[in-house]
Amino acid sequence: QTSNIELFLSNLNEQQREAVTAPFGPTVVFAGPGSGKTTVLTRRVLYLLEQGVQPENLMVVTFTRAAAQEMKERLAQIMPEKVQSLMIGTFHSLFLAMLREEGIRIPAFLSPSEQNQWIRQWLEEQEQPTDDETVSTYLNQIGLCKGNLIFPQFMKVQKKKNVVFRDLYQAYEERKQQLGYWDYDDILVAVYRMLQDESCLHKWQNRCRHILVDEFQDINRVQYEVLIRLAKKHACLFVVGDDDQAIYGFRGSDPSYMLHLRKEFPQLKQIVLSVNYRSTDEIIHISDQLIRKNKERQWKPRKGTGSKGPKPFWLEPDDEEKEAEMILSYSDGMETAILYRTATQARAIVDALVRKEIPFSISTGDHTFYQRWQVQDLLAYFRLAYDPNDLDAIVRIINKPKRYLFGEEWIDACWDLSRRTGKSLLDVLPELPGLEHYQVRLLKEMQRKVKDLSALGSVEGIRWIRQEIGYDRYLEKFAEETGNDRTLVFEPVEEMLLAARHCKDGQALLEHVARVEAYLRKPHPEAQVHCMTFHKSKGLEFDRVFLIGLHAMYLPHRRSLQVPDHRKQAAWEEERRLLYVAMTRAKSELYLSVSQTRQGKKLGPSPFLKEIGFKEREGDAAYHEIAATTEERTKRITNHLSRQQLKSQPQLRFAHEELAPGMKIRHIKFGIGTIIQVTPLEGVAPGRKVLIRFAGQVKTLHYELSRQLR
Ligand code: ATP
Ligand code: MG
Repeated sequence: QTSNIELFLSNLNEQQREAVTAPFGPTVVFAGPGSGKTTVLTRRVLYLLEQGVQPENLMVVTFTRAAAQEMKERLAQIMPEKVQSLMIGTFHSLFLAMLREEGIRIPAFLSPSEQNQWIRQWLEEQEQPTDDETVSTYLNQIGLCKGNLIFPQFMKVQKKKNVVFRDLYQAYEERKQQLGYWDYDDILVAVYRMLQDESCLHKWQNRCRHILVDEFQDINRVQYEVLIRLAKKHACLFVVGDDDQAIYGFRGSDPSYMLHLRKEFPQLKQIVLSVNYRSTDEIIHISDQLIRKNKERQWKPRKGTGSKGPKPFWLEPDDEEKEAEMILSYSDGMETAILYRTATQARAIVDALVRKEIPFSISTGDHTFYQRWQVQDLLAYFRLAYDPNDLDAIVRIINKPKRYLFGEEWIDACWDLSRRTGKSLLDVLPELPGLEHYQVRLLKEMQRKVKDLSALGSVEGIRWIRQEIGYDRYLEKFAEETGNDRTLVFEPVEEMLLAARHCKDGQALLEHVARVEAYLRKPHPEAQVHCMTFHKSKGLEFDRVFLIGLHAMYLPHRRSLQVPDHRKQAAWEEERRLLYVAMTRAKSELYLSVSQTRQGKKLGPSPFLKEIGFKEREGDAAYHEIAATTEERTKRITNHLSRQQLKSQPQLRFAHEELAPGMKIRHIKFGIGTIIQVTPLEGVAPGRKVLIRFAGQVKTLHYELSRQLR
């Protein structure tokens, strides 16, 4: 037994060992990124099992299903026979299992599209705006309320807007009950209610004697209440977290629950881990500089292991296409993550990866760009242009802009007429019975313009839809009526213009979209490149990390700041934490990219970048890097690469101006050298083969060229 425990403790530092072997009792491990919280939690499970704790008495809560899966796999390698009976999973999956075991009948779950449809229908009946943004805002709000155990019957509201929400919430809950459905938040609420019953609570308290929770900072009220109740009797609660990585405030999570723990359990043992094993000192330093700017936080010690690497590096491509190109030039098999604040920002890079057929994984579930409603609208116009019988497309765009065909009767009439006359659905629209003059005019105009669309190129086509067909007018009105941020409403449309540049015409654009969507539906386990939002990257780590699109508008994200004044500061700090989470995913290379233009406009860098040393562009001068001079830059990159990559195949990577014969460079291993010859490298990457004469020897080195730095 001792030897096993030694095994679980091997490679751990003093503080980590203390955490793994802490006495049974309430324990919180409070520590920064990469300090081994998840590692300690996993070893703690092994330790407890080794101490004779029965696996069925152990509950381990992870933040994502993927994390649960990974932990199970790790545990299975060491104790395969016991892993089966452990309770490991997300709050949702664990609570669902509890309900099932109690014999509580679980009804069918509403799918997200059904939820949307219900909300939309109710809003329609109340003559409220029913666009996707509004619907999803309401849905989030319902989730937020449930997470905070706020129910409609107890809501005191006065403002018109809040009354609408309360009534919607109530109607939604009632309808669910009547038809016998649940949404996923009902799982949490149901367990909370189930444990109100004393005998049931006792049973589960004895069952879940040891509860371990990862990412505790992102817990919400209902989850917290259930955990505390369960742990109250045996007090064997072991949680790990980092308040600096709390990024789900908008969903009702609250890191202050970490501090509340001491009130619940005065005997709480707190352990702080201070060594970051993940990242190089340079990455730790720069991310530390950032997070220090937050006022609302618990200080914690952070040091590195002394591992050296390149300084985090700024990329300043001209635009998002160049950004994608530059990042792809790094395809060398190193485990790489490309992270972004919002899914739309990944459009250029995803398109480029698909085009170049570089395998990559992307976290689905994130609304992908081509699924956004504005994009679907534009595509529907194109589809209709090529197929005048595409009913889905007609239904989608008929009132964008308004042509005053409401309800569903006209659809039947349309079919009917088309069948009788042999004309297409598009052709019979203006001939529908009972139309007013102005409707006939509008429909005729649309018919003609949609037909013209098929002859246009893709970029021209989008402009045509926007200006001639009147889609922009529709969006303007939409933004105005729903109070949505105009810039954000137009964002997908602007992005489509960029996407279209690679496609000859609408047909090619439709094909491209289908190709991307098909790619995203398939899993790509072999991928070394991983694309995901900042949010999804939490808890993960990668050798090389690119953060893209770090513009002012996206970080802090405009929408996140649309909160009442008293919440602005908190929202701002949550956005800073989000950048911090993303930066701290990197093990050895971190690139922060901010293109000079985005969708053809100058947006300027995120204000957070200034906090970590990014120099703003002055007048027409080029952007500066962290290391100011070319010479220093060259040296730094050369140094780094020589250490990392020269062992096997001499290769150095420059994000630097073209090298030329006669130039002197300094190399950490070979010293000062003079370039003799530069020849292009074969292959996809824009690389160069350089012949260099060092004192006493001539070497051939490879480097890849990133074009942005002049
Ligand atoms: P995050 O806050 O980002 O979730 P974390 O605190 O959970 O980070 P881990 O993911 O557990 O950190 O560990 C980060 C990395 O450091 C992992 O690769 C892990 O294997 C490694 N690591 C942890 N402890 C040690 C140690 N004592 N010696 C060497 N490597 C370690
Ligand atoms: Mg972790």
